[in-house]
Amino acid sequence: MELKNYMEEVVLGKLDAVLSKYPGCCTCEQCRRDIASLALNHLPPLYISSSKGNVYARIAEMSTQYEVEVIQAIARAVESVSKHPRHEAADGVSE
Ligand SMILES: [Zn+2]
Repeated sequence: MELKNYMEEVVLGKLDAVLSKYPGCCTCEQCRRDIASLALNHLPPLYISSSKGNVYARIAEMSTQYEVEVIQAIARAVESVSKHPRHEAADGVSE
C-alpha cells in the first residue's frame, strides 16, 4: 500500500507563482525545499484514495479549494526562509 500527501503537489504547483512575487528570495534547491516543507507544515495533509477515480482531477479541485491558504502558507514560508536561509553562502557577500 502506498499513501501520498497530495498537498505536496498542490504546494509545488503554486511555489513558482508565489516565488515570482518575491524577486529578492533565493530560489536554490535548498531554499525551495525549505519553503515547501515549511508551508506544508502549516497546511492540512491531503490524502486521496486512487480508487476514487481520477486523482489529478481531484488535486485540481483541491488546489482551487485551498488556493488562498496554500498561497498564504507559501508566502509566510518565503518570508521566513528569506530571513534565515540555510543554504551555503555562494559568494560570501550576503549580509
Ligand atoms: Zn538558497
